[in-house]
Amino acid sequence: MDDKHLKVLQQRVSLLRSDGKYKEAIEASQELLKQGLELNDHKSILVAHIVKAASFYCIGDIEEAFHSIDAYSEVCQQYGDDADWLSFYNVRFLLYEFQKDYIKAKDTLLRTIELGKKIQKYNIVSNGYSNLSHLYIEEENYEQALEMTKIGLEMAKLHKPQSEILETRVKLNMAKSFIGLQKFVESKRIMDEINRSNILDSFIREKSQYYDLLGMWHAKLDLYQEAFDAYTKAKELVESYNDLYLLKTIQEERMKLCDRMNDIQNGYIVQKEYIKLLADINDKELAQTALKLEVKHSITTIKKKANTDFLTGVYNRSYLENTVDELLNQASINKENIVCITIDIDDFKLYNDKHGHLFGDEVIKQVSNACKETLHKDDIIGRFGGDEFVIITTVKSLEEGKNKAIQIKDAISKLKIFNGDYSSSITVSMGVADNLSGKITTFKELFHHADLALYEAKRRGKNQINF
Ligand code: GH3
Ligand code: MG
Repeated sequence: MDDKHLKVLQQRVSLLRSDGKYKEAIEASQELLKQGLELNDHKSILVAHIVKAASFYCIGDIEEAFHSIDAYSEVCQQYGDDADWLSFYNVRFLLYEFQKDYIKAKDTLLRTIELGKKIQKYNIVSNGYSNLSHLYIEEENYEQALEMTKIGLEMAKLHKPQSEILETRVKLNMAKSFIGLQKFVESKRIMDEINRSNILDSFIREKSQYYDLLGMWHAKLDLYQEAFDAYTKAKELVESYNDLYLLKTIQEERMKLCDRMNDIQNGYIVQKEYIKLLADINDKELAQTALKLEVKHSITTIKKKANTDFLTGVYNRSYLENTVDELLNQASINKENIVCITIDIDDFKLYNDKHGHLFGDEVIKQVSNACKETLHKDDIIGRFGGDEFVIITTVKSLEEGKNKAIQIKDAISKLKIFNGDYSSSITVSMGVADNLSGKITTFKELFHHADLALYEAKRRGKNQINF
């Protein structure tokens, strides 16, 4: 894969996410991550992590979303630019907000604001303050919430070109803060200001927020019928974009109002709608759980595929190179012996040449099986390439490692592989080396020693083990 293909894959991943195809976006990100790591392309790695984080968030798998965002931040620290950090803060804010960890959510917003100011993107700064005020409202700290909206409004005014919706978002929080502070006149003045402009007609979410707020305002002043009507309007708007959780809070308010007005007829209707809504939420949550499991399963399969050799099912070379170093490091600390055994089929080319590649494949598979059957469950076996296998095993002594090599050779020598009437036995050459009491800490070096030993076994006439 080259740079052009990586770019195409990056676009595909981002498109799947914006289309709301989260499962597909996560799977494609996994592929992008693999390719990005192989080609050391940091942009691809960043895109893969952030799309995974955002998509996991959208399917409600917050734990996985945090894993991805942590991985993203590690790469970002080395290679990220301002735009990469902004994406990071956006997703991290959503995650902390979801967890109701307002301290960390606020900290994230402050960083967004700081960065927004640095790059003079006042829409980002204004939204940052707007979100800050929203969090203070959640905490019922209305004074502070109001402060944030005042700054947010100033920041919105600095944005060029002028953006009315930016100001409107801040004003909605401002009106809500005033309600919290029982300043109903001020609150209504702001709401009327919003209503006078026609901006809400183009922004349905903000429009529903406005009516929700209007309902709240009337309810606080015991104007029940007006409150009910406003909430009804909010409900209709929210239904059109189907935010079930927001609908639930609105319906709860409508039920309370019916109670207060003693309106049995409407109360009955709202209650029925509410029960149906709860069932919808339940269905949605069940579907989401199923989706989460499905995504987990498919990611495990993708990862497994990336680590295994397609012909034999044992690990592949890249897995060995990526994981054995850690094992050797641990062994060095714990003073453990690790032995590496390399195995190469003698004159393998002849099987291919005389009986065809499929027969050659069968030989490779059977040798791999014979090795697997001899090994302990903690031993690692991989196909290094072609007709060569590597085994990594933790042993009490080098002697034990040598015995294991002898057992493997015995098992292979008992194999008989058939092609019609023709049958063939197989011999292999093997090399054994250990980690020199912890001195060797990389797979590359350990393998090199074992491979030299194997080479010597071939040179001496094959069909033997060289220690
Ligand atoms: P030596 O005794 O020195 O090991 O000789 P050899 O013939 O076994 O070794 P050589 O490296 O010359 O040949 C290995 C061949 O294995 C070359 C390649 O065409 C073939 N090969 C590599 N991968 C596969 C595979 O997946 N299936 C099959 N059937 N053949 C493969
Ligand atoms: Mg060979």
